Amino acid sequence: MQTMHKTDLQRTLTINEIFYSIQGESTHAGRPCVFIRLTGCNLRCTYCDTAYAFYEGEKFTLQTITERIQGYGCKLVEITGGEPLLQSNVHFLMEYLCELGFEVLLETGGQMDISDVDSRVRRIMDLKCPSSGESEKMLWSNIKQLNSADEIKFVVGNRGDYLWAKEKIERYGLPEICAVLMAPVFNQMDSATLAAWILEDRLPVRMQLQMHKLIWGPERRGV
Ligand code: SF4
Repeated sequence: MQTMHKTDLQRTLTINEIFYSIQGESTHAGRPCVFIRLTGCNLRCTYCDTAYAFYEGEKFTLQTITERIQGYGCKLVEITGGEPLLQSNVHFLMEYLCELGFEVLLETGGQMDISDVDSRVRRIMDLKCPSSGESEKMLWSNIKQLNSADEIKFVVGNRGDYLWAKEKIERYGLPEICAVLMAPVFNQMDSATLAAWILEDRLPVRMQLQMHKLIWGPERRGV
């Protein structure tokens, strides 16, 4: 992407919420983090827990967003959604935050091309399994773009999802590229069963539970 100029700070993004919480689901889980949730998503996963981000939101300039982030005094920032890559100005925000010395995580759904994302950003790509209803939309060419600082996540809702994820892990050699995370769909997939499958297959993944939901409950927003 092109170099950012001061005027680019007047560009806008539609934001659903900005909040400070514990990072709940990645290799960064447990760390204090500022979250920026962008409005809009072009998927409709069956188990979506952030449907309120499809349409609700307000426009802010990048300058205002950055000032709010700086106000938290926390150097870890995660840009999420919805699907954050749907708004092209997000690239300017990510670049600016990296320049300011923030450690920037991007959570994206796997249906968007990630090749334009600033190389300093750590991308967490959530590859949608079949029970999401959206697995056909995954862009497999993204795999070539990933490096060891990135992460791939599979949210598993049933045995079919598990076998689908296992096949992708093996076919693309994902553990040799970056960390591979596997989590049960909250309140749908039994954690102990998923753990047993992973152990039985010696699958080289990192199992995860959504820590923020365990701390504050599944319905709480802004955590
Ligand atoms: S990608 Fe995320 S925000 Fe979009 S429908 Fe799926 S779970 Fe919901």
